[in-house]
Amino acid sequence: MSEAEQTPPAEPPSPENPLQGGCLCGAVRFEITAPFLSAGYCHCTRCQRRTGTGSSANGRVPQSGFRLLQGADRLRSYQPPTGVPKLFCAGCGSALFSGDPLSDEQVAVRLGALDRDPGIRPQFRQFLASAVSWESIPEDGLPRHPGSRGT
Ligand SMILES: [Zn+2]
Ligand SMILES: [Zn+2]
Repeated sequence: MSEAEQTPPAEPPSPENPLQGGCLCGAVRFEITAPFLSAGYCHCTRCQRRTGTGSSANGRVPQSGFRLLQGADRLRSYQPPTGVPKLFCAGCGSALFSGDPLSDEQVAVRLGALDRDPGIRPQFRQFLASAVSWESIPEDGLPRHPGSRGT
């Protein structure tokens, strides 16, 4: 899909315009009240494994704009040998966050967990070096990084 065909982003989340999301079984629910700082696609092997897809769409919000509404007892964390923990729902396995959503400065949220438009569009693609062979990378004009896009 070209950029021209993309739906324009909705109003970004704010205290007056909160954005909710949750896991597949509904046990974990959360709310975002600040605009996303960034968003992008990750084609790394870990994202492929934890989602079962070719890439994962993620966005980052400031911790101050994130609130866990319910399901703290259902959240589980997988700590890979390196990098930040990956959080998921114990009931349904939905991939939800990375890092610690309650204490880290920023929370990485899986965009597929959101109830509605995040108010931002993915801005980059990273870890293209490990992209799957069975799916072509869309010609979407986004910057492509072979490894991490850095910070
Ligand atoms: Zn669940
Ligand atoms: Zn990744």
